[in-house]
Amino acid sequence: MEGVITCPHCRSAALHPIPRDCCQYCVICEDCNARIIPKPGQCCVFCSHGDRRCTVALRKYELLAAQR
Ligand SMILES: [Zn+2]
Ligand SMILES: [Zn+2]
Repeated sequence: MEGVITCPHCRSAALHPIPRDCCQYCVICEDCNARIIPKPGQCCVFCSHGDRRCTVALRKYELLAAQR
């Protein structure tokens, strides 16, 4: 699975692979070479700057939904 991450520094979007079992905490922007890190309170760069939540967050929501 891949997600589009928009760089908060130069606004360029790039496709990055989403890890299945861990949170991607840092990616390097290919255009401006800046480190893209999550906003405070977000688990990873995909949840902060991506077009979709990461697999870890999605699984967490599914678990919560199943408990209700
Ligand atoms: Zn950038
Ligand atoms: Zn996440």
